[in-house]
This record gives sequence, structure tokens and C-alpha cells, in this order.
Amino acid sequence: MRRLFAVVALLAGFLLVPTRSDAAVVNVAPWATATASYTSPWENVAAINDGVDPSRSNDLRNRRWGTWPQAGEQWALLTWPSAQTISSAQVYFFDDGGGVREPVSWRLQSWDGAAYADIPAAYPVTVDGYVTASFPAVTTTRLRIVLESGKAAVGLLEVKAFADTAAAQSGWNPPAALVTPLDEVWRHTESGDRDPYGFRNFGWDQIMANGGSINYCVRWDSPAPVSAELRDRIHAALGRSFGKWMNVMAGHDGWPYAEVPVKVVGWAVRDRATLQWDDDSVDVYVGDMRENAPQCAEPCGRFFNQSGAYPDCPGGASHHYDMSLWLTAGMDGGAGGDWGQRVGSEYLVDNLGSDDIHILLHEIGHGFGLDDFYDWTPTGQCCFLMKAGTATSITEFDAWMLRDLWRHLKSRYGY
Ligand SMILES: [Zn+2]
Repeated sequence: MRRLFAVVALLAGFLLVPTRSDAAVVNVAPWATATASYTSPWENVAAINDGVDPSRSNDLRNRRWGTWPQAGEQWALLTWPSAQTISSAQVYFFDDGGGVREPVSWRLQSWDGAAYADIPAAYPVTVDGYVTASFPAVTTTRLRIVLESGKAAVGLLEVKAFADTAAAQSGWNPPAALVTPLDEVWRHTESGDRDPYGFRNFGWDQIMANGGSINYCVRWDSPAPVSAELRDRIHAALGRSFGKWMNVMAGHDGWPYAEVPVKVVGWAVRDRATLQWDDDSVDVYVGDMRENAPQCAEPCGRFFNQSGAYPDCPGGASHHYDMSLWLTAGMDGGAGGDWGQRVGSEYLVDNLGSDDIHILLHEIGHGFGLDDFYDWTPTGQCCFLMKAGTATSITEFDAWMLRDLWRHLKSRYGY
């Protein structure tokens, strides 16, 4: 009888695991490198595949790609390190009502190894929303979005390219040169202070407990005022940074989430007047101190409630936070763990527009269980993000170390 109950509980547990059909199609655009025929010096072509959904075609908040004053035929190009099998795409046109307007027409082209070929499809043009083109699947390493300008220059805010799961899901197939160093890293992880199999508060655990998202509290340990706009820019930069690690996992080895949304549910401050907004879009915690810094309420924090239940959190479990983004005035460097990331508030604010906020990226890596490399270097490697001071973006070796953690831990989630 006892054994029967155990079996029932096990089955129930498996039912909570997301089904693989959740990942039937994956947006593979974030894995690509974006380039363009021309980019205005104040715009950034990396905007088109940074995973940020625009609010409207004249988006003033997020990064954009625009060609002003260049008109005529302009293009943006997504290039992948390996071939993708793509069967639909979505684009979001940039239109500021002035120097950059919607195109008169557009089309997609794939690279066949020698030349670009038009992909036959219907290509509608509208603003203030994604437009979709669907077509018989093409397998290619390059997707080019060609825009024919009308009365002004042209641009794009975001592009999504969708690949079927079966084609997009890759298994454990690291480049041959990385097999030995990855094995060294995993043995180092296993022999460290923390048993990776027993530890249950990695970013992996947090994302799985939430069904594919992550919640944050911002600990604002600074007297500097925060406008609503700065609040939202910090949220966007955090989402973009977290997303860079998650893009490494999308479509890889059974990982079920094409995207992992980052939600900032709370801000913690010493003095409410520091926060210059009146809306209630986030919970505000005033004067709840720990480590001589403001924190969001402990009953809402995953670090303090690792069972994943938040019975004493005002607002309930939807207001819980998994990690804290702890921003300290005057701090150099950073710290990171399962509790979140700590960096200098000035450092973050000064780098909100950077493609790679590298100290924050490094500390987020620790949240998933990646180690530091202060006193050793894996065979054949020199420079990567987790070896502080040797790289400022996620390298191929960083990406494979993250995937290797998933490979070793995924069975606990039924994968
Ligand atoms: Zn570190």
C-alpha cells in the first residue's frame, strides 16, 4: 500500500512537468548574429534579435535598428553558426512617423551556400504589431530581411524566426575540443563544497518551479532617485542579460522553454521618496533591512522559502521573488549566487545601454551553478566570461558549461 502511494505521487509529479509540445516551435533568432546593409550611428542592429517585444512601432524605450538617411533597398541579416530549419518569421517594423517609416514592401531571403534566394510567401505590411510570413520550411544558416523603402528610411524593432522543435533541438554534441575541458569543469563542480545533485536552489530549480519564468526583487541600496523610466530600463536590461543565458539553452537537449520571461515584482528601498513613481506595478518594501541593505520581504523570497510555498507573502505566491538584483552605491565588482546578483548601482545604470553588462552576466552565471576560475584554467581554454577579467560576453565555452549543468541536473525534473 505504501509503495502504491509512492507510485501515485511519482506519476503526479511527472504530470507537473511541462510537456514537450510546449516547445513545438522555437524562436531561433536570438541565437543568430545580426548585421545590416546600413545602421544609423545612434541605432543598433543587435536590437532586432534581443528578445525584447516592442510596445509600438515608434518605441522610444528599447533599442532599434534604423537606416536613416539611407533609403532604397535595405536589409538586415541573421547569421547562425549552424543551419536552422525555419518555417515562419515575424517582423516588427520601426516607424517614427518622420525619418523612418514602414517599407512599401519586404521579403525574406535564405542563403543556399552561394547566393540569396527569395522565400515565396505573403508579406503584409502593418505597424504597431508583429507581421507574420509563413512558408514551406527552409534550412539555411542565413535569413535576410529585405525592406524596400517608401517615403523615408526603414528599420526593424524585432525579428523572430521559428524553427520546428524536432529540427531545432540539439542533443549533447559539444565541439570536440571542448569535451576534455568540460569534463574537467564538471569533475571540479562535483568535488566542490556544494553537492550539485543535492542542492535545490539553482536558477534551474527556480525556473522549473515557476513553469518557465523568474521573478526578481531589486534591492536599491543607494540614495540616488529612481524614475519610472529608470526602473523600466533596469528591468529591461536585467531581462536582456538573463535572456542571454537562456538563449544558450533554447532548443538544446530537451530544455523546454524557448524564452524565460523575467518579472520584477518588487523594489526595496530605505526611503520611499527615492522611488519617483506612484503606480503599483511593483511591490515596494521600505526599511526592511538585512546585511545593512534594503530587501523585499523574506516571506516572499525563495531563498528563505525553498519549499516553494509562500504562505506569509502579502499578495501570495505570484508576488514571490526567486532572486534579488542587489544594487549597491559605490561598489566595484560583483557577487552572485542562488540568492541573486550584487553589482554597483552606478555600474549598472552607466551600462544599461551596453550589449553585454558583463559583471551582471557573470554573476547570473553563478545563479545556475557555474563556478569561478580563480586558480585554474580548463585545458585549452584561455578566455571566457566565468573566468573573471578574460572575456566580457558569453563565449562558446561558457555556453557549453551551462548546457553541461543542465545535462547533469535535468533528470531531477523528469527530462
Ligand atoms: Zn564570480
